[in-house]
Amino acid sequence: MSGKGIAKTPLEAWIMQKIGVNAPSLTREHIQQYQLHKLRQVIRSAREHSPFYRRLFKGLAARDLGRLSDLGCFPFTSAADIRQQGLQFLTVSQGEISRVVTMDTSGTAGQPKRLYFTPSDQELTVDFFQQGMSGLVTSGQKVLVLLPGERNGSVGSLLAAALNRLGAEPVLHGAVTNLPDTLALMMRQQADSLVGIPAQVLALAHYGENKGYSVRLKSLLLSTDHVPAAVSRELERIWGCRVFQHYGMTEMGLGGGLDCEAHAGYHLREADLYFEIIDPLTGESVPAGQEGEVVFTTLTRQGMPLIRYRTGDLSRFLTEPCPCGTVLRRLEPIAARTGSRILTAGNRSFSLADLDEALFDLPGLIGFTAAVDDRQRAAKLRITAMTAGQDREAAKRSIEAALRQVPAICGSRRDRTLKVTMEISLQGDTLFPGTAKRIIRELNQSDGSQDDLSLPARENSIGG
Ligand SMILES: [Zn+2]
Repeated sequence: MSGKGIAKTPLEAWIMQKIGVNAPSLTREHIQQYQLHKLRQVIRSAREHSPFYRRLFKGLAARDLGRLSDLGCFPFTSAADIRQQGLQFLTVSQGEISRVVTMDTSGTAGQPKRLYFTPSDQELTVDFFQQGMSGLVTSGQKVLVLLPGERNGSVGSLLAAALNRLGAEPVLHGAVTNLPDTLALMMRQQADSLVGIPAQVLALAHYGENKGYSVRLKSLLLSTDHVPAAVSRELERIWGCRVFQHYGMTEMGLGGGLDCEAHAGYHLREADLYFEIIDPLTGESVPAGQEGEVVFTTLTRQGMPLIRYRTGDLSRFLTEPCPCGTVLRRLEPIAARTGSRILTAGNRSFSLADLDEALFDLPGLIGFTAAVDDRQRAAKLRITAMTAGQDREAAKRSIEAALRQVPAICGSRRDRTLKVTMEISLQGDTLFPGTAKRIIRELNQSDGSQDDLSLPARENSIGG
């Protein structure tokens, strides 16, 4: 334990052991030395065995990195590269691949994105999940997993394997599709903990609160999408539990980082991933503490190493020490993706995160989607909300009041450069939308009357 009784993140001891540090405590120098050594190995191996990297690095001097910042001389990789040349990334034969994850199957983004993992790559994920969950659950506890888990090697099944190693009991449920069914299961199983997707879990909690389900939990982990602070607050209030956040994407091998008891940003999985923050426009590294795009390089991935992969997530390194006292780096929770801020006239902007923070506190709200048409000078924003326990007019009034807390929306409406319309529906038992990352959708129809959910998404993905 350190300062104020906050336990140090369990990731530190794990990373220290993975790095093989033989000293009383882990330091930044240990981590940096290890990362430099690993980066050299990864680059050498990619040059030698991967057709994609051989082409990409052609013309770059074949000498080893002198220091970590030299990585800045290497080109970035992107989701488009994976889509177009996925198999060419491999540094092993296809026969060694045990799991292929296909993403973006909606077809709007062209070819689907495929990620390839070997058994040892999957073992790295299970090991990370085990360490991460050890901070939330103890042996003998029951954990409901509301993530896709039907298939072998899916995020839910890897998490279940990790929980079994901890001596905990996973209950694999999959994504929520029917609210009363899942709530009834939670009551029947008397789960101690739960892992799920923020918007889905909040919908469960608000629906359960309105329909009189009395659910209590000890801990809860939110994963797969950004976590609005309003969601954590509501879940703590309704279920009386500690709420932890996980940051990850399939490309990271599902896991990237996890917050500690201080709930002050994600501690990063630094033995397996090297993180950078860059200016999304220039590609240059930004000074520590400044916001930019999250870029990572895999340090231990066997099948399909990713070098300087651009995530599209915007965040920053938190430079002040975490209250838990760890030396691990800390990333601020992701609040937006590149290109996801909606610009309105008068140099104002807002993002889905701003809407989330304003709306998710409303007790009757089960969920909402937002769509925007910003092609004209006066932009249009349409909110489609689902409510339980409130009539449509009352829900409309409370959403109206909440939207006044978003300065960009309030100001733009006042000077008539933004028009907001609202559709409120009463929530039935079936939960929709599903597990895709939530975004503000683009309203391309001129009449704006078409249902949001049929509109193309900018980016849709889930690690499953
Ligand atoms: Zn911490």
